[in-house]
Amino acid sequence: MLRAFETFSLSSGLKMNNGKSNFYTNGISEAIVSSIESASGMKRGGIPFRYLGVKIVPKRLGILDCQSLVDKVTARINSLGTKHLSYAGRITLIKSVLSNLHNYWARIFILPKAVLNQIDALCRAFLWHGQENKETLALVSWKQVCKPRRKGGLGHKNLQLWNIALMGKYVWWIEKKTDHLWVKWVHSVYIKHSDWIDYEPSISTSWSWRRICAVKNQLKPWMFEEQWRQSHCDYTVKMGYTWLADDCDDVRWHHWTRNRIIVPKHAFFIWLVAHKRILTQDRLMKMMIAVRNRCLLCDTEEESIEHLFFQCSYSQRCLGLLEDWLQISIPKNGIINWWIRLRERSLLKKQVVAAAVAHLMYLIWYVRNRCRLLYGLPFPVVLIKQVKECLLMNLRGRNLVIGTTVTREWLTSVCPNCI
Ligand SMILES: [Zn+2]
Repeated sequence: MLRAFETFSLSSGLKMNNGKSNFYTNGISEAIVSSIESASGMKRGGIPFRYLGVKIVPKRLGILDCQSLVDKVTARINSLGTKHLSYAGRITLIKSVLSNLHNYWARIFILPKAVLNQIDALCRAFLWHGQENKETLALVSWKQVCKPRRKGGLGHKNLQLWNIALMGKYVWWIEKKTDHLWVKWVHSVYIKHSDWIDYEPSISTSWSWRRICAVKNQLKPWMFEEQWRQSHCDYTVKMGYTWLADDCDDVRWHHWTRNRIIVPKHAFFIWLVAHKRILTQDRLMKMMIAVRNRCLLCDTEEESIEHLFFQCSYSQRCLGLLEDWLQISIPKNGIINWWIRLRERSLLKKQVVAAAVAHLMYLIWYVRNRCRLLYGLPFPVVLIKQVKECLLMNLRGRNLVIGTTVTREWLTSVCPNCI
């Protein structure tokens, strides 16, 4: 063992600080342990211990073992701590900053469900309230938020499925018999001459090994399909997650919210609208919060999403001005199928129109909530001026794929100097 240690140190060229390093043993006598200590200058370590911030335990990973992960997520939310950030800004932070903390652990362990639920609760409170410790009304269920964007979600990962997809790489390594020491050990100790597809672990094996076998069984219908096995594709976590999360049909409006020209704040708003989750008067009355359901803009008809954005006299005047400016007919009913009904061959033109309509809907909602009571409704031309200025600013400096000359001429006429 000592010779092996010396060989490793020399061949790897590593300079180890023996005073800060430990070694771990199992099943050897105290005399040998003492000789290792005196020869290496290191002390024998005990289990559990921390390695690169992660707690290494010999048994099943418990909730208390993962407390430092939950604490880190809480601390990060407190450091981000802004209640004034928009929903779109918060979901971006959740996807980029908070998910990475979980990712680091989830690549190594199958995390307990209770811990994943705790992290979900922290992220959910941050999205809807901007803080980690507030129980607040969620406009859309967390399950829906965690769906892929084409399925009507916001693309935040379902932590349990992502954890399984990450563990799937170990299942793949075992299947492909890759050149990892751990894979060789698993084959020689556990699997031996069995077929990995049908292998079932005995109850006496370790908890972590049984969880890896459970992940294998979960991924089995896809990963061990004959066609997939014969292909020369390598497993990626993204592929595994896409298969696991594919539990419903695509929604027809996802292209609208995924439009790259649209401002994220407006995209989030129309995502809420598409789910019919904004608090219009008809909905408030059903919830017994409002006593009347008249439209707050025209005060003549029932206020529903369809009425507010497409059928209200105020909105129709705004849409008329938008049509004159963009030289296009805008469908005025059916929020869900709006994108499909927008007849236009050029994708860029469709995206520009959709971004303008989304901004207009955002402004209609804004004036409905804020301006009506304080200052009265602004003239529709004021709203369209804001949409124009925002779109022009958003298009400038972008590397647009314009396509045909007709589209170029149209874009030059509606947004001068944007290309
Ligand atoms: Zn109205």
